[in-house]
Amino acid sequence: MCHSFLSDSRFYQLLFHMDQALAADVQAGGCCFCGGVLHSARYPRKPRGPRSALDKSYQTRLSFCCAVDGCRRRNTPPSVRFLGRKVYLGTMIVLLTSLQHGLTDKRRQALIERLDVPPQTLARWRSWWQEVFPVSRCWRAERNYFIPPVAAGQLPGALLGRFTGSTLPQRLGQMLLLICPVTIPWSGSLQKEVAPQKM
Ligand SMILES: [Zn+2]
Repeated sequence: MCHSFLSDSRFYQLLFHMDQALAADVQAGGCCFCGGVLHSARYPRKPRGPRSALDKSYQTRLSFCCAVDGCRRRNTPPSVRFLGRKVYLGTMIVLLTSLQHGLTDKRRQALIERLDVPPQTLARWRSWWQEVFPVSRCWRAERNYFIPPVAAGQLPGALLGRFTGSTLPQRLGQMLLLICPVTIPWSGSLQKEVAPQKM
């Protein structure tokens, strides 16, 4: 299989369109604290990834601020692009920690070198998949839909292998959409669930 999608701007544009749809849902629902109107208030971001394939839309994460005086709180939609505040894109975090059903060993190693990911960073991502993600509210809600169960010890590869898209980028998009609730800053078990921000 060809993995040229990793340097294809269309792949990243597709993920951006998915983020736009997620954001539109949040905006339509109004402020989750008071129901007020939400105005755009994007976060600046500098994601680490294939720079040449990332357009200006990757310089911000979609987010909103409540327009109601006395509330004005931030409402940040889930994202299939940014797995927390960290510089690496969610796509890279999934692909570099999937030991099966993702890239070949050789491709994965080449991507690690190209993106200059330190071994400690990879180790932190792996422990997040092994220790934090399995107990997240998102995964506890979703895991029962997978029969037979996805082995927690084989995350994230085992989960990636369950999606039915005919190509790896499609399966990756499906997986990022499923896990995107973990990217909401105030979701679930708070500190633990936003741990990728620290990575
Ligand atoms: Zn509000």
